[in-house]
Amino acid sequence: MRRIAGRIYVPDAQGRFFPYRALWVREGRVAGLEPGRGEGEVVLPGFHDAHVHVWKVGQLLTDLLDLRGVGSLEELARLLRERDRGLPPGVWLLGRGWNEAELGGVPDRGFLDRVVPGRPVLLTRTCAHIHAANTDALRRAGLTPDTPSPPGGEVRYQEGLLLERAYGLVERALPRRTVEDYRRYVLAGARHLLSRGITSALEAGADPLLLEAYRSLDREGLLPIRVSVLAILRPDGEETTYPLPEPYRSDRLVIAGVKLFADGGLSGASAAVSRPYREVGGKGVLRLSAQEVFELALPAHRRGLFVATHAIGDVAIREVLQAYAALYREAPLPVRHRVEHFGLPGPRELALARALGVWAVPQPIFLAELRANFLRYLPEGFLSRCYNLERMERAGLRVAYSSDAPVVREVSPLQGALAAARMPLAGGGVPFGRALFRYLRPEASGLEAARLQPGQRADLVVFSQDPFRHPEEARVVRVEVDGETVFSDG
Ligand SMILES: [Zn+2]
Repeated sequence: MRRIAGRIYVPDAQGRFFPYRALWVREGRVAGLEPGRGEGEVVLPGFHDAHVHVWKVGQLLTDLLDLRGVGSLEELARLLRERDRGLPPGVWLLGRGWNEAELGGVPDRGFLDRVVPGRPVLLTRTCAHIHAANTDALRRAGLTPDTPSPPGGEVRYQEGLLLERAYGLVERALPRRTVEDYRRYVLAGARHLLSRGITSALEAGADPLLLEAYRSLDREGLLPIRVSVLAILRPDGEETTYPLPEPYRSDRLVIAGVKLFADGGLSGASAAVSRPYREVGGKGVLRLSAQEVFELALPAHRRGLFVATHAIGDVAIREVLQAYAALYREAPLPVRHRVEHFGLPGPRELALARALGVWAVPQPIFLAELRANFLRYLPEGFLSRCYNLERMERAGLRVAYSSDAPVVREVSPLQGALAAARMPLAGGGVPFGRALFRYLRPEASGLEAARLQPGQRADLVVFSQDPFRHPEEARVVRVEVDGETVFSDG
């Protein structure tokens, strides 16, 4: 038995935090709590990020050039030249995270040819729906000025831009990722999440190779956090369907859900909405109708796998919820499905989500990082709907918060909770403590609850300061999973 003394914050079932002065740990689980307000280490339960791309976070931190936050084309050119010098000849220079609003321009083919003339370059926009390539990259992919755009995508040869599904044309020419690459990325991503106090996460989409990487890491006891992995059912840009995953459950790894995509994103104006976008027009792209979601999801539903569908626009959310309603009518099973992002629900969608008991999984940090895009493109009258977390609370939904990193820079639940509390686009924010509690819902991902209640896993975060008093300054200094230190700062 080990006793951790300090100021231990533990939430009750309603999400109210109470202080304790000590916590007992035995065999990786919480053995007891001593009531009272203590001093010393500030301890909270380890957080759950309910939708994050762990491997992509790791890839960005290792093999890719991280372009998030780059503020000008000159700075971009400097970073590209520096990376170019460090790479062996002929190797692709890959980067991710540019945003033309911050750069003051698009890094087009002419720009990339001038800066890096000697090797293929491919730079993914922050949203991952648009890619910028130089001439060498397009040539290696076999693209010419006459290459037609594929269905659901667009090749803009002159600018070197590949939109939506056109990316598939270039992806084929990229070096193949191996299981070993994926393992490296997952470990790097998991370490980064730990440094922000996250002890469990949902990997929001995995192909069969990534699933294999996770299984092998788990068998070797190498996963430092708990992960629930969503298996992709239909890969982007393809009409084939992957087989349902074999369910898997260990202490650290769960494979119990599948991923579908019903529409696009808000920042690229491709989420399926009922009123046209401002400035760019159009109502986005509905990728799957209710009937299609139903047909794709039914085999998973029958097997007891949960279905997590990306749906941001009100139209997409409605279709997905109708499909879920049909699944429960067809086979009334206890499995709880999810809607990823849940960006623009109207009153009807909120009511239906509540009635079905499904999980909504929004990203509060979007309110901070994608705010300018929302303000610019959102359809008339939709500002008050956009990631309105307070309405989700009032509607009585099951809600789990997440980051969707690396779409955004910030993966810290503290920063996410601050955005939820202070940065609503309309109306009131969600109280900070309530918002933090929404990062403590591993049940949304098919994982055990771990909120430091007696009997639960001893997954905890030690902060440098009390996050309830100094949310901006509090830093993660130590993290334990199963009562063992897996991260410590310095
Ligand atoms: Zn995502």
